[in-house]
Amino acid sequence: MALDSKVPKGPINDKWTTYKDKIDLVNPANKRHIDIIVVGTGLAGGSAAATLAELGYNVKAFAYQDSPRRAHSIAAQGGINASKNYQGDGDSTYRLFYDTVKGGDYRSREANVHRLAEVSTNIIDQCVAQGVPFARDYGGLLDNRSFGGVLVSRTFYAKGQTGQQLLLGAYSAMNRQIARGKIEMFNRHEMLDVVKVDGKARGIIARNLITGEIERHSAHAVVIASGGYGNVYFLSTNAMGSNATAAWKIHKKGAYFANPCYTQIHPTCIPRSGDYQSKLTLMSESLRNDGRIWVPKNIEDVLAIREGSKKPTDLSEEERDYYLERRYPAFGNLVPRDVASRAAKERCDAGYGVNATGEAVYLDFESAITRYGIEQAKIHNIDNASEEKIYELGQAIVEAKYGNLFQMYEKIVDQNPYKTPMMIYPAVHYTMGGVWVDYNLMTTVEGLYCIGEANFSDHGANRLGASALMQGLADGYFVLPYTIGDYLSDDIRTGKISTDTKEFDEAEKEVSDRINFFVSNKGTKSVDYFHKKLGNIMWNKAGMSRNEEGLKEAIVDIKALREEFWKDVKVPGTAKEMNPELEKAGRVADFLELGELFAKDALDRNESCGGHFREESVELDGEQKGEAKRNDKDYAYVSAWEYKGEPSDAILHKEELEFKDIELKQRSYK
Ligand SMILES: Cc1cc2nc3c(=O)[nH]c(=O)nc-3n(C[C@H](O)[C@H](O)[C@H](O)COP(=O)(O)OP(=O)(O)OC[C@H]3O[C@@H](n4cnc5c(N)ncnc54)[C@H](O)[C@@H]3O)c2cc1C
Repeated sequence: MALDSKVPKGPINDKWTTYKDKIDLVNPANKRHIDIIVVGTGLAGGSAAATLAELGYNVKAFAYQDSPRRAHSIAAQGGINASKNYQGDGDSTYRLFYDTVKGGDYRSREANVHRLAEVSTNIIDQCVAQGVPFARDYGGLLDNRSFGGVLVSRTFYAKGQTGQQLLLGAYSAMNRQIARGKIEMFNRHEMLDVVKVDGKARGIIARNLITGEIERHSAHAVVIASGGYGNVYFLSTNAMGSNATAAWKIHKKGAYFANPCYTQIHPTCIPRSGDYQSKLTLMSESLRNDGRIWVPKNIEDVLAIREGSKKPTDLSEEERDYYLERRYPAFGNLVPRDVASRAAKERCDAGYGVNATGEAVYLDFESAITRYGIEQAKIHNIDNASEEKIYELGQAIVEAKYGNLFQMYEKIVDQNPYKTPMMIYPAVHYTMGGVWVDYNLMTTVEGLYCIGEANFSDHGANRLGASALMQGLADGYFVLPYTIGDYLSDDIRTGKISTDTKEFDEAEKEVSDRINFFVSNKGTKSVDYFHKKLGNIMWNKAGMSRNEEGLKEAIVDIKALREEFWKDVKVPGTAKEMNPELEKAGRVADFLELGELFAKDALDRNESCGGHFREESVELDGEQKGEAKRNDKDYAYVSAWEYKGEPSDAILHKEELEFKDIELKQRSYK
């Protein structure tokens, strides 16, 4: 099947508007006869479900949590981008578009990113109208802060709880529709397959996670909004339940999977503490607005700190290496995540890591606290304020901005980050890869859509901070509701889709057979045993930096692990009850296939771009020496993989990327 991105013709500024003017619409009376399934009620799925129901469609929404409010989106801390230019610092639709394409290392589709920048401002208006309590400045206007990879302040935020507040907004919009009967909500239901009839997505098979019952649900179109697959690494900042099953199942039924190797390793996470850890914690990127990242200049100081004979606060300014400010003077501590993560790894690999495992750098707020303290002393007319007073005043400002994040850090690490610098290290955080979609957000299966982190669409090889929430809500509130209508306008005479057909019989049987296999396979090893092993392979051989030899080994190792899993996995309990081990088994089985495709994709892409760093592709000379080396001549394409059985048999389809409005350049943050 040829890949057609369906990008409308015409100048980039007009594409979306002209497209909306020309698409087919469904009249309100007909919408009442059309059903749409939305799998996932995080920010992407929640906003889509609410909007589609408001438009008049009958929506069935599914989530494996006990409430949409518990979707992983709730974890988002730092903020959401929009080019409102409230700061008057030169922001514009073009600049957001440009920053996002550049930030993604020129591996995203221009037309999609431009549309995202266009609708970004609507998102803020929508959310404010819902009552989302964005931070405001002294005069009562919406406040902004900066995130990495940009030179303007365009990030709207609600303390360190932006995702939670946005999700409450989407959830209230959903609840209105649930109360009206326009959304039927299926909490604690896991979609385990999609059902295709005559090549079109017409329903899903879901398991009721409380009773274990397998259910059939039909619709005229199916939307997947199931989040990202970062947990293929076992340890990540994602919620423990985040998984790839819905995306992987549709891949197996014909949806191409794009750029699986593009993973975001976030630079500011609390370092791993030991082998029994099951989760990593993010320290929001917003902290890089005020925190300065450093390691000691001298190795003797590193060793003294590790031994405990020196404290970081004992080191003078001259004894500290603020390596991001040194290497990237233009962006400093606000370089994009991929750049900051690799720079931390470089320092730690060189022996400068400051914790016992040598895998930590400092994120220090001392300068910011002092700077704010001096300003506050002036504002409050305190002459000759003592150092303590200045610190106290400054700390209050930092606390007001990031208090909940500091509290979280102290609870986990048992150190007071107002008094001693935080220790941070990169960790898996987000997946730019995902299900391939065209401009309409439709997958390669007709009537099957994919939105939010689950698709590959807008971030290229690296996502800029605060742009996942923007994309999820753009997809759900402002893009899908138009594009899906164009498709559904052909379905107004179709009538109810029956679930009593051979296609539903077959899909249900496949799901039941697999569940029955798990509960009857009396193996000896737990699901987590396999998940951890997979995570180790992924981190060591397909992690922050990758090479040909390691990737080839990863492919062999993952295949062998998968074979062992199917022989020896032990799933206690039965199928007809609430059984979290059974849920995990299905998810890890899918990760074991996805992981291999990931490594295969990374092997194919013999260039360094964004979150994908190939050791064979590094700048050897000049100002950029040591930086990642992109290869536009051979790799300016989206890799879209078609499922053919084993991951090793997957077929690569290339969507060549055209850059008409942005010039491809060396990505420099110096
Ligand atoms: C700690 C942390 C902080 C972050 N901070 C920011 C930030 O400040 N700004 C920013 O822009 N981004 C941030 N991100 C990224 C952002 O939060 C996510 O990319 C985004 O929330 C994903 O939203 P989503 O709706 O696509 O998926 P999710 O929120 O992951 O929702 C997935 C939904 O799908 C459902 N689901 C999944 N599989 C199935 C299935 N098989 N059957 C039924 N239901 C299923 C789940 O129940 C859930 O409802 C952060 C991420 C993390 C981990």
